[in-house]
Amino acid sequence: MTSSDRNQRIREIGSALMQAAREEETRIVRKHRWETALLDWCMRDRDLKTRVFRFIDVYPSLRSPSEVVRHIREYFPHTDHRLPAALRTGVALAAPSGLSRGPVRAVTEFLYRRVARLFIGASDEKEALERFHDYDRRGVRLSIDLLGEHTLSEMEADRYFERYLRLIEMLGGLDAGPERKNVSIKLSALDPRFDAVDQLGTSGRVRDRLRRLAEKAREKRVFLHIDMEDYSSRDVTLRIVRDLSEEEPFRRGVHLGVVLQAYLRDCHECCDQLLEWGSSLPVPLTVRLVRGAYWDTEVMLAQERHWPVPVFESKAETDRAFEALSARLIAASPGIRLAVATHNIRSIAFAMAEAEARGLARENVEFQILFGMGDSLLPGLEASGYPVRVYMPIGEPVKGMAYLVRRLLENVSSQSFVRRGIHEESRMDRLLAEPLVREGGLGDRNPAGAAASRPFFKQAVMRTFKHALERVPSGFPQRVPCVIGKKDISEGKTFFSVSPLDETIRVAQGIRTSPEQAEKAVDEAFKYVELWKDTPAAERAACLEKAADWLESRRDELASIEVYEAGKPWRQADADLVEAVDFLRFYAKSARELFLERATDRLVHETNITRFRPRGVTVVISPWNFPIAIPAGMTAAALAAGNPVILKPAEQTPLCGWFLFRALEEAGIPRGVIQFLPGFGEEIGPVLVGDSRTAVIAFTGSMEVGLAIQEQAQQRRPDQRLVKKVIAEMGGKNAAIVDISADFDQTIPAVLESAFGYAGQKCSALSRLIVLDGIYDDFTARLVEAAASYPAGNPLDPAVKCGPVIDKEAAARIDRMIEKGWAEGRLLFQGSLEDGLPPQYIPPTIFDCLPDDSALLEEEIFGPVLCVIRAADMQEALKIANHSRFALTGGVFSRTPTNIAEVRLRLEAGNLYINRPVTGAVVGRQPFGGFKLSGGGSKAGSPDYLREFCVEQTVTENLFRHGFAPLEGRSTEE
Ligand code: NAD
Repeated sequence: MTSSDRNQRIREIGSALMQAAREEETRIVRKHRWETALLDWCMRDRDLKTRVFRFIDVYPSLRSPSEVVRHIREYFPHTDHRLPAALRTGVALAAPSGLSRGPVRAVTEFLYRRVARLFIGASDEKEALERFHDYDRRGVRLSIDLLGEHTLSEMEADRYFERYLRLIEMLGGLDAGPERKNVSIKLSALDPRFDAVDQLGTSGRVRDRLRRLAEKAREKRVFLHIDMEDYSSRDVTLRIVRDLSEEEPFRRGVHLGVVLQAYLRDCHECCDQLLEWGSSLPVPLTVRLVRGAYWDTEVMLAQERHWPVPVFESKAETDRAFEALSARLIAASPGIRLAVATHNIRSIAFAMAEAEARGLARENVEFQILFGMGDSLLPGLEASGYPVRVYMPIGEPVKGMAYLVRRLLENVSSQSFVRRGIHEESRMDRLLAEPLVREGGLGDRNPAGAAASRPFFKQAVMRTFKHALERVPSGFPQRVPCVIGKKDISEGKTFFSVSPLDETIRVAQGIRTSPEQAEKAVDEAFKYVELWKDTPAAERAACLEKAADWLESRRDELASIEVYEAGKPWRQADADLVEAVDFLRFYAKSARELFLERATDRLVHETNITRFRPRGVTVVISPWNFPIAIPAGMTAAALAAGNPVILKPAEQTPLCGWFLFRALEEAGIPRGVIQFLPGFGEEIGPVLVGDSRTAVIAFTGSMEVGLAIQEQAQQRRPDQRLVKKVIAEMGGKNAAIVDISADFDQTIPAVLESAFGYAGQKCSALSRLIVLDGIYDDFTARLVEAAASYPAGNPLDPAVKCGPVIDKEAAARIDRMIEKGWAEGRLLFQGSLEDGLPPQYIPPTIFDCLPDDSALLEEEIFGPVLCVIRAADMQEALKIANHSRFALTGGVFSRTPTNIAEVRLRLEAGNLYINRPVTGAVVGRQPFGGFKLSGGGSKAGSPDYLREFCVEQTVTENLFRHGFAPLEGRSTEE
């Protein structure tokens, strides 16, 4: 068949489907006149649409009529004339007396449920059965999907499992074959620790639950279709299903199907795998071909992590891939049973034309639509003679909110065929035309060249990293010299850095720099002030960029070393490398701009400029918790600004510091410009800080040390010729508030990550969680259940997010705090760890009911300990949050606009995060740093930070000579 014949046939099929769809749509609109009008009202303009979606999103969390009225008012403050009449009157009448709040809530609930029921087929299994019979009588098949909350705990996973089991049992009782009894399952619902990076653990756990469901399904002759979720989980999902299908008794034939997403750029590679797998099976493999439902998520994640966007950015590219894939899968029939799941008439018609051209029997290709979304297509599909299936989500309509919002978004997207377009003749040609791909996309979202985090969920990336982890210990303990002037000093007193993972692993043996050597280092650094100052800013910047490239090229090795030396989990270690690279590139770029001369006001006879000059020898004193990124940031800023540096890494992580030094040296920074002094802060710190020649002290670490440095730096020496600049970034006692309108599904993972990620050893870690009274018990109950699934243990395991604390001393200090917590408050939760781990492994721990003056609420714990505090209302919550000496990070989880506004205004935190974790600032995107006793000055990762390392000079030149002023633009003849 020629391509024009094919297109002609597609047109014929498409036109028939379209005609049938028009008639059905008219009937549906008539039947649901009222809901359709409501939807049309909601979608009238973009602003209103956003408000409606947000309101739908928050509604299920509103517990009282007054909360409902309050949120209607807040979400629709200027649009009350557009509210449906019943609500408008109700809200207007909802006086402070509260008399009409009940009825307003009732009306809202009624509207909400009516709209939800457009897309959610049944509220429970019993009702689902009725639907099954309705459709079955028409010869239409169903696939039932269970809606619900995110699975955050084992209890929730068990609940899902039981619900699936009941559903399979129920369908099993029907007198029908597996082609009619079909259940759709999202694997992430079966495991609270579902993590694409932890492929082995995840597949083991999920397979156990899925196996039991598959056994039951096999016994009851029910088909299980495994849904596909986001891109990162695709490979692990396929692996689970594939592994299961190879087990006895399933290898003899299993009723399991999988999904192929056409919007992924690598969809053809995935199709290759499915075809290869299908060809090895004794029964046909069922593949549901979809476009993909997580486009926004994929784009957002890729942007956040600087990954290439895994999805096509234009609809036409996806359409084209969809057609190509359907052709490939049809060609593989009957080894593959294709289910074409789309509402796009062109794609449907294409697949039908293709099946016809191949002479395929109708029963070999199925067409699927979504309940409530593609209903108007149903009669046309039924008439076509192909099997038709409706994918029907079931569940409590109010709880199915996330699904509802997604469907509404699709339903009203301008590209959605259903509801729009089918009545317009002119659109028909366009709808049935071949997809035309145009150039363009979302554009470059990474102009600053920021480093991308490692996609560990990819097998190849994971293998390389594992290999590096296995390889690096063979070089331990690595010798770390001290570098003074041009010389490496490798002889003298030494100390070891031991791994927090296991004290028997000695990672590095560093020279223990003596006070005399520190003094010598200042002498040497002083000699390089002029040389480095006179190196053009662009040249200095280029060195930093080369150092960034060097670090990036060795990132697996360096991140592996960090896992051992700092006890960081994989992703955190990689993130530290990313941050170091970003700092180097960011300050290089900022310095190029900062060191340009700036003209100020000019007179006819006078030029004025200001420019920046370096301050002088800079001492960098860094902590162990970001052992490459933090010293890299401070050192890069100092060097970019033209200052020689004396770099003193933390004594716990000298090897990480050494690699930073090497990166800078390999990048061409002349020997002598950086002195590298491994050793103990209390021994050499005072020498460096107290020396009258050191101009800047850039310190990041604890409040005690930071304040002591400030104090010492302020004492003037007789020979002092400068005012020392101290840049001190110190600790935190960070608080986040959970409002009654918070989304628990989103809040709980963010809280756990903020409090227990890297065992709480971040200055930004969440330490005080303030929960409003109205939700306190429900929230803490779910938090505690979820905390039990937070992966703690040895960070060599990629699943682990909470590893050991840095050393035994830190562990003893944290243990003392935990004992205090036991004595003063109530232990809400303490995790359990594998037996035999050394004492520096501390399980995630949660307390509440602590007295106001408890040390647990005031002092930085720097371990995996979270204190929960109850607050009557937002005002009290803010008061508690601000009752701290620190002000580093803070957060709020809320969907109430006025409360968010209040927190924005009043919460004292250098970095305030709304509805997201309170850790994880990105260079350039979230400039980082606190105030009060957390520090001060300009923020790290902001262009202003560089100025801290400079002095500003104004240069004025008088050009007036003997009555002549060189006026700009004046002609000499005048
Ligand atoms: P620390 O204060 O014990 O040590 C930090 C550095 O100071 C180390 O290099 C240490 O050797 C040195 N030092 C110790 N005594 C000194 C002295 N008397 N004079 C000069 N230097 C001295 O802190 P740490 O345990 O390495 O790090 C954890 C602390 O750092 C936490 O309080 C954390 O909140 C803070 N921190 C803050 C930020 C931020 O950006 N605000 C970032 C990371 C860590």
